[in-house]
Amino acid sequence: MAQRRPAKNSPFLAPVPFYWCDVCHAPVMGRICTCGAKTRPVSVTPPGDVRPAFERDRTLVNRIFEEQFGVPLIPDDQIAILNKVPDEDRMEEIILGGAVVCAIRFLPAENRWEVLPREAAAEFASPTKRIIRVNDEAAGYIKDGSSVLMPGVTFVSPDIAVGDAVFVMSEAGECVAVGRAKMSYEETVGATRGQLVRTRRTQKPVVDTHPTTWDDAIRANKNILDIYENKSVEFVKDVISKNPDLTPTVSYSGGKDSLVTLLITLKAGLKLPMIFADTGLEFPETIQNVKDVAEKYGLSVISECGSEEFWKEFEVQGPPAVDFRWCCKSCKLAPVRRIIEKNWGEAVSFIGQRKFESAKRMQSPRVWRNKNVLCQLSAAPIQHWTAMHVWLYLFREEAPYNPLYELGLDRIGCFMCPSSDVACMKDIEARYPEMWKEWEAKLSAWGDAHGMPKQWAEKSLWRIRERNEEDADTDSHF
Ligand SMILES: [Zn+2]
Repeated sequence: MAQRRPAKNSPFLAPVPFYWCDVCHAPVMGRICTCGAKTRPVSVTPPGDVRPAFERDRTLVNRIFEEQFGVPLIPDDQIAILNKVPDEDRMEEIILGGAVVCAIRFLPAENRWEVLPREAAAEFASPTKRIIRVNDEAAGYIKDGSSVLMPGVTFVSPDIAVGDAVFVMSEAGECVAVGRAKMSYEETVGATRGQLVRTRRTQKPVVDTHPTTWDDAIRANKNILDIYENKSVEFVKDVISKNPDLTPTVSYSGGKDSLVTLLITLKAGLKLPMIFADTGLEFPETIQNVKDVAEKYGLSVISECGSEEFWKEFEVQGPPAVDFRWCCKSCKLAPVRRIIEKNWGEAVSFIGQRKFESAKRMQSPRVWRNKNVLCQLSAAPIQHWTAMHVWLYLFREEAPYNPLYELGLDRIGCFMCPSSDVACMKDIEARYPEMWKEWEAKLSAWGDAHGMPKQWAEKSLWRIRERNEEDADTDSHF
């Protein structure tokens, strides 16, 4: 797989400040580590909103790597970092030791994951399946860019089929190339000629194989986190001083970004009421997290449920779809408006919006009013934070983040959000079979009443729909 580059008119003009310190053996979100050493850039695919791999993510990567190559990839004494890459459904780059070691991709049609390895993976795991061994002479040529030809090949794993991703190893055990097999094992038996592998040229990156921990990463990023924290605290104070007539509040969704935003308001010396727009389609863990956070920090929660609006609208519109998320407006914005009008008339809300979340947010202002909630002035203290800043900060502050993240969810909203990828929906279905069955029953009933084919409800086809209304709310925080 070639390194994906941003399109010429890519909206992601701000590069993610993602580096590695080879002295501290840790990711650093800036050019200079807290230890004083100069860091080296880690080349990831844009937008590059990198984040930690949690236990569930590590297990998934290790399982699928082992299926293909015979051994797990991530050693127990290494932290792993994920980077979501634009793809048909779900694709993640895996970063170990300051290098991208592979990508994993979900193939929804086949309902399975595939690993696309890079040479650096062999620094952490010695594959025992899907390998091709070559003699020293051939290894030298291949490293210089030659093809992998039958003469010079000394071993072919008997499991290799045409199209499989393979590692090409030297007799000494060094990885000299990765690529896709052009011949199956059977075809190589007795063959004396032919190209065996189409290699994928990737520049061999610097790899740091020293053990790492998240504590190392927190220490290495101390100065950077302090600067980000200070700037965000100053922003909060500034917004409040410029809007003395508005009641300050903090929007809380149960997600990591709104938790950091809440912590920033506490650091600014404030104890703001938490606004929670309950869609009625929340995970039980999210409802519990809202309670836990309020209790831990001694804050009040003001909540309204948008469930009634959702099901009324569902009857008319059908389920929300990827490019037609009418749900945000009816079950998020409407409750927020009710809360503010009832309690204060008008309010300023600190919201966990970040520019690296999406192309649209990259262009969003830091203070704005949503046209459907004019009584709310929204402000984004962590606009310039990446997901990694957010996580390192939450780890450092030992904040009670939503446990769903550890179960492999990277964004937390309604349980059936059409914007989730199929890979994620399969996970949710397996974990919450009752909730999911109920949702599918509603889908089937609506589908039957509107002449939809049977697979519409079952095959996730309901998620895809032509957009029939221009609505800017579908990608903006409330
Ligand atoms: Zn360092």
